[in-house]
Amino acid sequence: MIPAVTLSTGAKMPVVGLGTWRAEPGQLSEAVKAAISCGYRHIDGAYVYENEEEVGVGVHAMIDQGVVKREDLFIVSKLWCTFHVPSLVRGACEKTLRDLKLDYLDLYLMHFPAGMKPGDNLFPIDEEKFIIPDDSNFLDTWEAMEKLVDDGLVKAIGVSNFNKDQIEAILNKPGLKHKPVNNQIECHPFLTQEKMINYCHSKGISVTAYSPLGSPDRPWASTDDPSLLNEPTIKAIATKYNKSPAQILIKFHTQRNVIVLAKSATPHRIKENIQLFDFEISQEDMKTMLNLNKNWRGFPAPWASKHKDFPFNTEY
Ligand code: NDP
Repeated sequence: MIPAVTLSTGAKMPVVGLGTWRAEPGQLSEAVKAAISCGYRHIDGAYVYENEEEVGVGVHAMIDQGVVKREDLFIVSKLWCTFHVPSLVRGACEKTLRDLKLDYLDLYLMHFPAGMKPGDNLFPIDEEKFIIPDDSNFLDTWEAMEKLVDDGLVKAIGVSNFNKDQIEAILNKPGLKHKPVNNQIECHPFLTQEKMINYCHSKGISVTAYSPLGSPDRPWASTDDPSLLNEPTIKAIATKYNKSPAQILIKFHTQRNVIVLAKSATPHRIKENIQLFDFEISQEDMKTMLNLNKNWRGFPAPWASKHKDFPFNTEY
């Protein structure tokens, strides 16, 4: 059984989840089935991945076969930026639930703080390739998300890609009804996020790390970008523990009390990525990994850099 982090609501969130971004059509439901069969109980999805129906097929196959019950699973989705206008929030969540064929989510995150022009185009950009903002304020979006908790569509709400000031703004919002329970952020040895993790934990907000392997298949990857899976220090630590570099990179988070998502659509890697609980990385090796930090982002989101709510222009 995969260990879990207890959220401020009391719910338990398994420390390793299956990522679902960019899973090829036709492969994702098989990946979800393979993951649940080998012990995953946490699946991370999003409206903008445009593949939630396939996640639902995999989940329901496992429920129908009696492998798991709905309440054994921790299903996460995210509100996309073109639905930040408060009147659009519920419809977006309902579409996710319909696609997944579920009647509630365990956690619903605001995917990115910057609201974008509503419409069919999920990435509305201007002629200079910058996103076209909407006129929303993420505090109002948060209020609409609070209503989803009250109405039973989601058990808990949180944020993703928010910086400290933006989280503070939510925590200090007059009339705040539901605190964020989680911030999902990019995190790995090249972006160790120590201040953000300490800050969130000090406020009772759990942290989830995305792209723990450096997201090698992200479409904008350049050959000059650093590679975590090929980093000699990581490879040496992996050899020392007789584990793969991926296992070391994933375990790095669970030892920091950080929840971690790893995406794979390959059955043997899906299995490998949760075989993490029969060894411990020494404090010294953890320190060596933390020292690889170079504040490098695989997801710098330059298309949002002119938005009033762009999150990555502060220290953390
Ligand atoms: P990851 O760092 O998880 O890397 C995924 C890539 O690594 C895939 O190409 C996969 O290949 C490969 N891989 C997986 N396991 C292994 C292994 N054991 N050995 C070697 N290669 C491996 O990247 P993601 O960016 O996908 O991040 C994980 C998840 O986090 C996403 O899927 C998504 O759910 C979430 N996310 C959230 C974001 C946000 O803004 N909130 C942004 C980005 C991600 P293959 O599938 O072929 O096996």
